[in-house]
Amino acid sequence: MAGTGVFSEILDGDAFKYYSNGEWKKSSSGKTVAIVNPTTRKTQYKVQACTQEEVNKVMELAKSAQKTWAKTPLWKRAELLHKAAAILKEHKAPIAECLIKEIAKPAKDSVTEVVRSGDLISYTAEEGVRILGEGKFLVSDSFPGNERTKYCLTSKIPLGVVLAIPPFNYPVNLAVSKIGPALIAGNSLVLKPPTQGAVSCLHMVHCFHLAGFPKGLISCVTGKGSEIGDFLTMHPGVNCISFTGGDTGISISKKAGMIPLQMELGGKDACIVLEDADLDLVAANIIKGGFSYSGQRCTAIKVVLVMESVADALVEKVKARVAKLRIGPPEDDCDITPVVTESSANFIEGLVMDAKDKGATFCQQYKREGNLIWPLLLDNVRPDMRIAWEEPFGPILPVIRINSVEEGIHHCNASNFGLQGCVFTKDINKAVLISDAMETGTVQINSAPARGPDHFPFQGLKDSGIGSQGITNSIDMMTKVKTTVINLPSPSYSMGSSGSSIRSRI
Ligand code: NAP
Repeated sequence: MAGTGVFSEILDGDAFKYYSNGEWKKSSSGKTVAIVNPTTRKTQYKVQACTQEEVNKVMELAKSAQKTWAKTPLWKRAELLHKAAAILKEHKAPIAECLIKEIAKPAKDSVTEVVRSGDLISYTAEEGVRILGEGKFLVSDSFPGNERTKYCLTSKIPLGVVLAIPPFNYPVNLAVSKIGPALIAGNSLVLKPPTQGAVSCLHMVHCFHLAGFPKGLISCVTGKGSEIGDFLTMHPGVNCISFTGGDTGISISKKAGMIPLQMELGGKDACIVLEDADLDLVAANIIKGGFSYSGQRCTAIKVVLVMESVADALVEKVKARVAKLRIGPPEDDCDITPVVTESSANFIEGLVMDAKDKGATFCQQYKREGNLIWPLLLDNVRPDMRIAWEEPFGPILPVIRINSVEEGIHHCNASNFGLQGCVFTKDINKAVLISDAMETGTVQINSAPARGPDHFPFQGLKDSGIGSQGITNSIDMMTKVKTTVINLPSPSYSMGSSGSSIRSRI
């Protein structure tokens, strides 16, 4: 159970503590933030509402802990990360339970998220040892006008304090995808978890604590993003921000100082279906891509663009599969579970009503109980409907019928988002041409969009983000190149000098 066993020290009464200087603490604010269970709609947990002074303190500690951490051998940093990964996996059950209660993630997927996070940490440790243990050696005579008088040595150095802000939908996985790269590269880390998902994150952080990381190197401050977010992101002690979430990321980018930013934001992933596609494969991927975790995934299929000639057949196949989805509580491992908050459910309902008013075809009856929204396929959606462009983050999927591939590409590219997309066709040449034409960070051919495997590069164009994630890219992003140039008194060429000529020059 959450907050028991090895995790008992993170709980005080009915409120979870925050993590600073290697200790679990109550906030001096005396205030807590309630985390409402999306299924019961009752308060499930409480976390500390941290103060600005407490944020100042963790920044100060992070700055000084980083200096010592940067001097810790790379193999030792990796060793501690492997240890944290093992502890995290060992405690997958209580952490998965938090995910079920805080964000209504289906039971099996909750366990998978924790295990995948452990694997991600281990892979990061291994990749870090490989890529941070190497640098470059350049010589000056490759650039015109230079002789071989300069040797340039490059290495990757840490940035300092990394601020990590993950979203609610993968709070553990998207936190460790920032923590792992930051730490292996020699940075310290301040985590601001999402409110829904905060308790899962606090348990995960305790696994790092149990692994024995130095005091102050990792901190976790809780509180509402709307209240402490600006103070954190504009804090002068922050040297890098790695953020995953919605439009909030755009405003953070405008306010943050001159520091590297990694922004992974929203998406409106299009699924383009050609006449020759295997429609059973497409239907299976639309169900997986559009409805898993009730559509609350950045890479969910969020609009289907299907050629008119196969649209009827595809819609029938998808309808048949939607009818088989299990709807209910996450504890029962249902496919469709309540969406994260009441305001999310209201937002989704607004998109559905707009589509209804404008004449979309409802393939199922719209049904909602509390935060639980039944899966809904909307056919004959037109560009004047909000659902054609907006990210519902719920189990609602629009189908737009197209008469040419160009029409599909045009719709995809007219979006302000550019995260991922997918194309279904048996013609690989066409698929590659369409992939090139789609303005998105990734295109999947004959499969639904997906973030993983976690070592693949993952990035969004336009409003979908800045920079690229994926283990290697995140490590690179959280480092800076440092060069040392050795200036020789005279040109030196390997295998070009005899012993006597050297003697005459030195
Ligand atoms: P969100 O509302 O943008 O929140 C994301 C994080 O930002 C949360 O931790 C939130 O804390 C925090 N926050 C809120 N206001 C802030 C502020 N002023 N300053 C700093 N931090 C602040 O997003 P969400 O609802 O959690 O997640 C859904 C969105 O994330 C969707 O748009 C989805 O597409 C996107 N997403 C993108 C990716 C990707 O990799 N591209 C992956 C997953 C999700 P509180 O919870 O306390 O408000």
